[in-house]
Amino acid sequence: MLVILLGPPGAGKGTQAERIVEDHALAYVSTGDILRAAVKEQSSLGKKAKQYMDQGQLVPDELVVAIVKDRLADPEYAKGALLDGFPRTVTQAEFLDQALPEVGLNIDRVLSIEVKEDELVERLTGRRVCSDCGANYHIKFKPPKVRNVCDLCGGDLYQRDDDTLETVKERLAVYKKQTEPLIRFYMDKNLLSAIDGNQDIDDVNKQINDI
Ligand code: ADP
Ligand code: ADP
Ligand code: ZN
Repeated sequence: MLVILLGPPGAGKGTQAERIVEDHALAYVSTGDILRAAVKEQSSLGKKAKQYMDQGQLVPDELVVAIVKDRLADPEYAKGALLDGFPRTVTQAEFLDQALPEVGLNIDRVLSIEVKEDELVERLTGRRVCSDCGANYHIKFKPPKVRNVCDLCGGDLYQRDDDTLETVKERLAVYKKQTEPLIRFYMDKNLLSAIDGNQDIDDVNKQINDI
């Protein structure tokens, strides 16, 4: 099974992904997480990606496509995967269409999580992430039990560099221009299911499990 999570920054893709991979035993691919790890390691990929990420721009297709190619070549991922934050451009989606048959996979569903823009801004600017395990929190909507400490692993929580108001606005504009066209792209292939993401985390999860 291959499922894609589509949606603007802050829609709740990472939050829902945590539950989906647990409930359905899927391998998880988040290009955002992989890129942030590369930046932290200061690898050559990380050095190239950082300048784009800091400005809220997309990392060039060829770099991101190489990451996904590498994951799909791994037998663990080829059994079934959840893609979070990939594809984000029509070029990336076309790459996937061509690469998946080679590993015996096809797209089962594209879940498009839809959330109002002012809510997205509040979610992103209040987001906190565990520096050890990557778990997601929100200062208001999903606070940790102890301030700035991860419930799952005890790690310190931090705010992503690109979750400042200015960069958030840029990322939302980039989403509209470069990623939103994928809604039509997958609708035309009868693969798209719209999810109302303006609800609490459990209710969004229920809609996803029903599909
Ligand atoms: P969000 O929580 O905003 O959906 P992600 O963690 O998925 O963000 O991505 C963070 C940043 O990483 C993006 O703003 C972009 O610079 C880069 N990135 C992640 N996935 C992709 C992709 N598929 N194509 C290009 N850039 C990407
Ligand atoms: P994405 O991966 O799509 O960028 P996240 O899953 O990181 O989004 O969610 C963005 C922020 O919003 C996080 O701080 C998260 O805790 C919070 N959040 C996620 N889903 C909901 C929801 N349904 N209601 C309120 N807050 C949410
Ligand atoms: Zn943690």
